[in-house]
Amino acid sequence: ATPTAVMVATGVGANNGVLIKGGDALERAQKIRFVIFDKTGTLTQSKAAVTNVKVFTDMDRGEFLTLVASAEVYSEHPLAKAICNYARHYHFFEDPTVDDSQIGTVDEKMTGWLLDTDDFCAIPGRGLVCNVNEKQILVGNRALLVENGVTIPTDVEDFVVDLEENAKTGVLVAYDSELIGVVGVADPVKREAPIVVEGLFKMGVRSIMVTGDNWRTARAIADECGIQDVRAEVMPAGKAEVIRSFQKNGSTVAMVGDGINDSPALAAADVGMAIGCGTDIAIETADYVLMRSSLEDVITAIDLSRKTFARIR
Ligand code: ADP
Ligand code: MG
Repeated sequence: ATPTAVMVATGVGANNGVLIKGGDALERAQKIRFVIFDKTGTLTQSKAAVTNVKVFTDMDRGEFLTLVASAEVYSEHPLAKAICNYARHYHFFEDPTVDDSQIGTVDEKMTGWLLDTDDFCAIPGRGLVCNVNEKQILVGNRALLVENGVTIPTDVEDFVVDLEENAKTGVLVAYDSELIGVVGVADPVKREAPIVVEGLFKMGVRSIMVTGDNWRTARAIADECGIQDVRAEVMPAGKAEVIRSFQKNGSTVAMVGDGINDSPALAAADVGMAIGCGTDIAIETADYVLMRSSLEDVITAIDLSRKTFARIR
């Protein structure tokens, strides 16, 4: 392709909300054979919402939610946002379905009712640990609790398995070394996801999903997207390893992601594509930015490259 063709393609991309950072990235995209998708915020809408709250002690539901929110309010994780939002609604209205516009901003309403918290520590791929009212609270997945010596009773395990089989994430909560409850969070799949996976397949491109979330939830979400190849319970650094494993036989690999967690993988990929409404770090690291945050633009990007660099016979 001539420099003019590259310039034209970059312009066409921009008009469609596909920002391409340079001619090299544009050229590499034609050869993509594998697209590795992040789950949360990439294949899913990032509209995580609490669907289940189950307390396994005699603690009151409101008390439980206040306790969990007092810890999660310091976390940036999408699960934390969903839980805080739910707890806030519960606290003020005892009706989590009340519309946000009725009760002001999150920041306004996240002060004044939470408990004293200190020693907050986020544990990537696991959850968080801190002290609330001078006792330790653990909020996160099984691994977090097990590593901290908390046993998970069978009835709790059964409840979490049931959530996961329904594509939800079970957030476990232990307080003072005792498992006190579970919060179920659902994040719906983007409507275009299965269409894009099928479209890519027809173009000879295979889709893979990678996530830090557990295997059962991951498989359920992947099924909804029509993705067979899943890598779950992957720690942030592990996402880049997954990319490299697909590059081994010389294949061109794209990574599509939105999170801080995804930036090492976006950098490792031959073509990194960031979701436009994702985090700044992901956007800075990527070769492509999909401004409309629609997965259809993964196809647009590959198409554009193929058309620009197709040899005229
Ligand atoms: P993902 O790739 O799905 O964004 P992460 O690596 O961010 O995954 O997190 C992996 C898992 O760790 C989550 O699915 C969740 O179970 C747990 N986790 C992480 N942060 C939190 C948090 N702030 N609150 C509750 N659970 C968390
Ligand atoms: Mg994500």
